[in-house]
Amino acid sequence: MTYVFTPALQPALPIKGSDKLFPIHRIYCVGRNYAEHTKEMGGDTKDPPFFFQKNADNVAIDGKFPYPPATQNVHFEIELVVALKSGGVNIKAADAMSHVFGYAVGIDMTRRDLQDAAKKLARPWEVAKAFEHSAPCTALVPAQHVESPSKGAIWLDVNGERRQTGDLSQMIWDIPHQIEFLSGLFELKAGDLIFTGTPSGVGAIKRGDKMKGHIDGVGDLEVVVA
Ligand code: MN
Repeated sequence: MTYVFTPALQPALPIKGSDKLFPIHRIYCVGRNYAEHTKEMGGDTKDPPFFFQKNADNVAIDGKFPYPPATQNVHFEIELVVALKSGGVNIKAADAMSHVFGYAVGIDMTRRDLQDAAKKLARPWEVAKAFEHSAPCTALVPAQHVESPSKGAIWLDVNGERRQTGDLSQMIWDIPHQIEFLSGLFELKAGDLIFTGTPSGVGAIKRGDKMKGHIDGVGDLEVVVA
């Protein structure tokens, strides 16, 4: 059997120090996983974090973010990205790190005005979160080269000015517990990415802005708003 048309290319991330590609399966994103960001979004820090998804082909590795349509308020959210090399269901936190392939620096780009409208109407978030180029990302750094994914500085500058700053140790749910929780809802698979939430300081960008994100031990991500 053949396809009725040529299937889309498999979305993938480059891997630092390798000529192989990491094929992306799904993208899970955690919301409100840093207390200070939860407060700035008007949430209650006692509420548990929650998850939403982006599409695998929303990942962009070309350092460009075309300003998206249908919005006047696009925000950056710098995040540690966890890439899985294996998965399963009901994974225990104690076993979770054995499924991690590596890490990247990512930005969860968000059409905040559409998200605010969706929240008011109790509607889903895809229009705010899962649009083209909404997940700029670096190459993956294999886990054996990342000393401490549970602590280290995470920050984002716009045009050389510090806008977001935090530490990976401030996550409400750490990486093992995110994997445990997600695997109780979904069958996790090799190729899944998890965007692990953002520290406080999120804000809007405009055309021509230069974003630079950094995570200690993982790397730097530079993205120009086109
Ligand atoms: Mn986010």
